[in-house]
This record gives sequence, structure tokens and C-alpha cells, in this order.
Amino acid sequence: MNQNLYSLLSEHFPKHSAEPCMILPDGRVWTYGDIERASGRMANLIVALGLKPGDRVAAQVEKTPEALVLYLAAIRAGMVFLPLNPAYQRHELEYFLKDATPGLFVCRPQTKALADELAAKAGVPDGATAGCTVLELDDAGSGSLIAAAASHADGFVTVTRETADLAAILYTSGTTGRSKGAMLTHGNLAHNARTLHAYWHFQPGDVLLHMLPIFHVHGLFVACHCALLNGSAMFFEPKFDIARAMKLLPQSTVFMGVPTYYVRLLLDPAFGRDTCRNIRLFVSGSAPLLKETFDEFKARSGRTILERYGMTEGGMFTSNPYEGERRGGTVGFPLPGTEVRIVGAGGTAAKPGLVGHIQVKGDNVFVGYWGMPEKTKEEFTAEGWFKTGDMGSLSADGYVTISGRSKDLVITGGLNVYPKEIEELIDAMPGVVESAVIGLPHPDFGEAVTAVVVRQKNPAGRALTEFGIIAAIKDKLANFKVPKWVYLVDQLPRNAMGKVQKNVLRQQYGKNV
Ligand code: AMP
Repeated sequence: MNQNLYSLLSEHFPKHSAEPCMILPDGRVWTYGDIERASGRMANLIVALGLKPGDRVAAQVEKTPEALVLYLAAIRAGMVFLPLNPAYQRHELEYFLKDATPGLFVCRPQTKALADELAAKAGVPDGATAGCTVLELDDAGSGSLIAAAASHADGFVTVTRETADLAAILYTSGTTGRSKGAMLTHGNLAHNARTLHAYWHFQPGDVLLHMLPIFHVHGLFVACHCALLNGSAMFFEPKFDIARAMKLLPQSTVFMGVPTYYVRLLLDPAFGRDTCRNIRLFVSGSAPLLKETFDEFKARSGRTILERYGMTEGGMFTSNPYEGERRGGTVGFPLPGTEVRIVGAGGTAAKPGLVGHIQVKGDNVFVGYWGMPEKTKEEFTAEGWFKTGDMGSLSADGYVTISGRSKDLVITGGLNVYPKEIEELIDAMPGVVESAVIGLPHPDFGEAVTAVVVRQKNPAGRALTEFGIIAAIKDKLANFKVPKWVYLVDQLPRNAMGKVQKNVLRQQYGKNV
């Protein structure tokens, strides 16, 4: 049997050929038949350009239906897809192209000259005769890619792939050191797609409101694969926009977002039960969802957000249950087919409730970092567990709670401080929007616990002071955990997926030390 992920996703396409797959903001509709034909034309083009199965197809484009079709065409033709964040600049792009040596690079018209220059420097893919072809795709879904594909036939026989063959390389955000290309196989992606589709009860009639970017695991694999596998329609929006969300939520049954989207929905006074009347599932992930957001959302919408946890290196690892208690502040249970363990000091399993390193194993876990065998070896244990780099704990009844990245752990006077514990206390204070706790170099303690706090723009927020914050939490924490420094700010730096960039904060406030 052909293990190509496209075969799995497209099994039902003939049955649903006249049904909507993507609905665009201007009302245009792409049916499943359109997807099948357009991906066939593009797959024929990719082959005609001289690419061979296993060659890389890189794309740094805006979110359009054509961009999704390009992904599908690439895997259908047996190529390895490499989505790149449009925010990446020259030196990042140069690194990715040199590292992955794609045979085709699809860029936006405004970066064509740069793309030509960098592609020429990037070298020739292994075994290929030609270098990297550069084609354009603009934010309206036009460009030389589409023009070139138009002369090719719609029909394309999906290239046979094994489960172990690569389907995609996703570069990690690389907040420390070089960004690494996580290699995901057809088997990895198919396993996670099937699992999530079943675990989250995708059903006939589902309509997904898709507002996430598609250069990331959340928007491309989690959201799109569930909808494609289900034969669902997606409202395919270029980005999260509160007015559009308010208009489309009542027509949708499933919404997937990063925590920031939920915070912004709650800021809209019109958001409430009526907006969510047809939604059966709200999924949150990619960054921690504050317990207070979870609670407020429940109170306002009558819906309980399902929080899940995963990463580029393996898709989703854990999820709160579809049926049963969705527990705020936790990321639920290991998904079927994925094992999760918490490793304490000395490499032994941590007792329930104690924080340790999260390690995972399963068919969804990636096969290594592209061109980095040594780094790959370091990140797996001898028994094949992947070290996620996240810290967390397991409750007695099996719920996983994330405490943060291990590199964000603060070690002060030789003692470990988990930022989340302090952030939760500060966040619960009247007048606080949110906070980030980091460690800054300190001559005596090694690191000093430091809190960066966003105040509300109301009297309670204005009344907050650095000393007031310290005084309010002092009695609730062991002395070594009490922040030595507090900074009041208007907002926290975040990346495209809503993750607080603690490395940026450390850099910024480390200078004051
Ligand atoms: P990425 O590879 O960009 O998807 O980032 C993965 C990282 O995001 C994980 O290793 C976690 O640190 C974080 N993450 C993802 N989902 C959650 C969640 N529900 N709660 C807390 N952190 C999360």
C-alpha cells in the first residue's frame, strides 16, 4: 500500500469532489476536486522541473489556498516540503537554503531578487543536475508558479512512499543557537493526523475556522490535516482578525488557536454564548493558556477549551480529553500511540506532582535534525526517548502540566525555580494582565529571579508598583523564589505563534544588571 500521506488525506476526495474544502474571505470556494486537480498540475510541474523524490521544495509565501496546494503537490510528488515563515530575513533565509539545498524555492514577488541571489549561492541538491529553481506566488495566489503549473495536466499518480520516507522539514524557531530542521516522515504525519482526527471526534458536517499561519505545525499539520482527512470545509483566513472571527465563529463547528486568540476574543464585549452557538470544539496550544483565560472563556462562552501540547518535532503529544474533564492549566493525557514520561534528577521517573524533564516516544516523533546527526543523538536517550526540553509534572490521575522550557528554568543560589509557579501568583493579582519570570545573571546567586509584569490600564493596574508586587507574593513563596527585580511593561515580546520570547527579555533586561 502506498504510505504517501497524500494518499491517506485524499482517499475521500473523489467522493467529496464537489464539496467545499476552502472558503475564502471574498466568498470564493475551492472544492476537494479543485484541490485534487490543482495539486496534480503542480506535482506535474515539480517533476518537469527535474526534481526527484526526496528533493526539497521550500516555500516562503503568504497563506493562500495555492500555498496549501503547493504543500500537497510536493508531498504527492514524493518531495520534502519546507515551509518558511515570511518574516525570515536575508541571513536566516540564506542559512535555510544552504542547509536544505531545495530544488525549488517558491517566494513572494517582493523577495524574488533576494531569492534568486540566495538560491544561486545555495548549491545543487544531492544527485540533481540543476540548481534551485525560483518561482513566485503572491498573496492573491498568482505568480510564475501558477502560470507554469497551468500548462500541466490535472492527473498525477501519487508517488509511492514508505512510512520512513521524509515528507517535511520544519525549522525550529531557534531561540538558542542554530535553527534545526526537524525531519518528519510520511508515517509521522499520518499517525498524528489519524490520532487527532479520531481523538477530537471529527465528524460529518464539521466546519473549521482556520486563522493560524501555515508555515507552522499547528496551522499546517494539526488544523489542515484534521479538516482534509475529514473532508471538511475550512474558512481559510489569511490571519487572526477579531472582526472576521466574530463573523465566522457562528458558522463554524471547530476553532483552533494559540492562547492570544482566546485572550483577544474575550476582549470583545460582543463575544459570548451566541457567537459560539455552533462550535463543538475550541482547541488551544503552542503556548500556555492561562488558567484565568480558560475559566473566563468557559464563563463567557459556555464552552470548555481543550488544551493540547506538542511541538515541531512530533506534532501533538498530549491532549485534554474530548469527553471527560478538560482540566485548565494542564495539557491532558498522552495521546494514543504516544508515550510520555517525566524524568527527575538522576534520570529516574519523577513521582506524581514533581517537576521533571518531559520525554516522549511514539510513531509521531520525528526522525532527527536534518544534517545534524550529533545533535540528533544528544536529543534522544539510548532507549529512544526524545528529550523535549520542556519541564512538567504528572498528576496522580494522569494529567500532564507544563512548567516551561528547561532553558527557562531559573537556578538561583543552586536552587531550581520554575517560572510558572511565580507567574501564576503574579497573574492572579488585581491589575495584572500577565507576567514572565526569567533569570538574570547575579554576582551572588548565579541568577536572580526577575519578573516582567504587564499592568492593566485601569486604576488597579496603575496602582501596581514593583515593591507592591514583591510584597504581595512574599508570604506565599520560599524566600529564594521571590523576585529580586520586577519590571513593569506595556506588553511582552511574542513570536508569530504567541509564545513569549524569554530570550528577548533576558537580553533586554540582562543589560541593566
Ligand atoms: P513549536 O515547536 O514551535 O510548536 O513549539 C513547541 C513548544 O511550545 C513546546 O516544546 C512547548 O514548550 C510549547 N508548547 C506547546 N503547546 C503548549 C501548551 N499547551 N502549553 C505550554 N507550552 C506549550
